[in-house]
Order: sequence, then C-alpha cells, then structure tokens
Amino acid sequence: MPEALPHRSVVRPLLSVVVPAFNEASNLEPFFEELEPVLRETRLPWELILVDDGSRDETWQRIRVLHDRDPRVRGVRFSRNFGHQYALLAGLSRSRGDAIVTMDADLQHPPAVIVRMLEEWRKGSQIVHTVREDSGSEPLFKRMSSRLFYRVFSFLSGTRLSSGMADFRLVDKRVARSLLDFPEEGVFLRGLVHWIGFPSSSVSFACQPRFSGSTSYTVRRMLRFAWTGVTSFSLVPLRLCIVLGFLTSGFAFEQLLEALYRKLVLNANVPGWTQTMVVLSFLFGVLFILLGILGEYVGRVLIEVRRRPRFIVRDELGATGDAGSTVGLCDESGGSPAS
Ligand code: UDP
Ligand code: MG
Repeated sequence: MPEALPHRSVVRPLLSVVVPAFNEASNLEPFFEELEPVLRETRLPWELILVDDGSRDETWQRIRVLHDRDPRVRGVRFSRNFGHQYALLAGLSRSRGDAIVTMDADLQHPPAVIVRMLEEWRKGSQIVHTVREDSGSEPLFKRMSSRLFYRVFSFLSGTRLSSGMADFRLVDKRVARSLLDFPEEGVFLRGLVHWIGFPSSSVSFACQPRFSGSTSYTVRRMLRFAWTGVTSFSLVPLRLCIVLGFLTSGFAFEQLLEALYRKLVLNANVPGWTQTMVVLSFLFGVLFILLGILGEYVGRVLIEVRRRPRFIVRDELGATGDAGSTVGLCDESGGSPAS
C-alpha cells in the first residue's frame, strides 16, 4: 500500500510534480491543500518539487514549512529570478519520478486533471499535453494574443503548436531526460516537447482564475518570451529579411528605371529631392530593420557560445539523490553555505 510507505527520500517516488513559483507565497498553501488529496487518490508514491525562482516574498519560507510538514515536498531555490522555463528545467533535473507533471502554483491548473493525465500515460503516451478550454476566465487580450502567437509560431517554425497549450503537462522520465539533454539557452519547452517526438496525447481542462496575486507575465515579458521562442526555433525571420531585401531593391530599381526613362526618353526633368528622400529613408528604414533582426541572431549565438549556467541554485531542501544535474548547473552542491 503506497500509503503505508515511509515518507523518506530513500523511497523512489513514481510520480513527481514540478511547480515553479515566483512570488507565490499566498498560493502555495492552498495549492498544496488541493494537490495533496489528488496525489493520495492516485495511490502512487510521489514527490513535489517546488522551485522558488528568486521570489521577493515569503515563498521560500512557505516551501520550508511545507517541507517540514511533509518531507515528500522538496524545494529548490534560485539565486535570483531566472524565469519560468529554467525553473521548470531545474525541477525536471531534480525529479526522480517515472512520470513527471509540471504545473503552475497559482491553481490555474486544477490538480484533479493529473488523474486523467496518468490514465493517458498508462495507456502509453509518453507526453500528455493539456489544452485550455476557453473558459473566459482569461482576459480577452491574453487569449487573443496567445492565439495569434501560436499561429505565427507554427508558421515560422514548422512545429505545429495548437493554441491554448500551457506548461501543464505530464512527461515520462525518458522524455525529461531528452529535454535535459538540450544544452541551449532560451529554452522554449512548449516548442521542444513537440519537436522531440515521442507518442503523445492531450487532455483538456478548464483554466481557473489565479487564486491570488497577479500574473508575472506582463506584455513586455510575453513579447520577449514569444521572440525567444521564435528565434530559438526558426531561421525564417532571417529568410524574410532576404525576401524583404529583394523587394526593396526591386522597388529602388524600378525608381531608377523610371528616372532614366524620364530623362532619356521624355527628356523631362527628374522630380528631385522629395522622391530621393522618400526612397532613401524607406531603404534606410528597411536596412535598419534587417540589421536589427540579424543582430538579434548574432546576439543569440553569443549567448549560446558563452555557455553560462542556465540557472544557479542557492538552496535546496530534500535529498537530491541521484537526480542528474545535466543542465547548466555546474555541481550538485549548488546549495548556499547556510544549507
Ligand atoms: N513563474 C516563475 N518565474 C517567473 C514567472 C513565473 O517561476 O519568472 C511561475 C509562476 O509562479 C507560476 C507560473 O510560473 O507558477 C506561471 O506564471 P504566471 O501565473 O505568472 O503566468 P500566467 O499563468 O499568467 O501565464
Ligand atoms: Mg498563472
């Protein structure tokens, strides 16, 4: 009986739940209260890995309280805010489960869905995606922008993503291992889990409103996230530059022919400076856009070749055991001197 198992880290858990948390102090307790009965219901041994992504509130203290209450709750604390995607990666790198569920700490992802995900996993899906049902709880702007992004992303990268995908999914440990083998910066897990293949299926869920606090994805952060996703997956923007270059040179060439025609055939005056200025500023504008896009990719190459650690762990609660630190983290002893 799984319930009779001692709550010690020597027990190899079968189910890991990875939850990134950034300023979620007020959500962690209610989240755990809702998650725990569901995990009990699965009758599997489990572990919960809460990753504190450099929160400025009491998040880490709350994780500590939960860990003291139930040692199956483990904690990883970053030295600063590294971002949601890296928090997910850190959680995956620490997981020892055969099935690993990733979800948000704000109760937008209902824990009850885990039961259905496990059913799919048992049937042989090594990745179980979730798709948000349009429940209307998300602001219209967020829904529209997310739909637009997935369209554009699928077009640019050739990796089909359907809209409403969330970082709420179950992956088999083999999938997690493959994900950790990607050494790249600017990880975009939503794209990668499609790119790597493996048999997959999806379950739908009704997205709940955030329990408390506010989203940390501001418009600026969402745009940056989207741009990182696109540039880490696709070279199409660079190719679009070439197309745009051809189009504008075509336009300039046409203007040149027109000027020659006026001068040589019609023997008329070539209208001067307005036209010149228009064409010039247009061409320069395009040129700067192209240089900007080029620069973005050069910048990404720099980021990749620097090979900095993708996240730095300041503190850890609960045994790390044999969980590999195959990600950017240099060593397992990433804990602070105090830990
Ligand atoms: N999160 C994180 N680091 C960040 C931003 C967010 O770990 O820099 C976590 C956050 O605590 C939550 C999840 O990622 O558990 C999703 O973030 P949020 O709810 O703010 O985004 P939304 O659901 O509005 O897209
Ligand atoms: Mg949320």
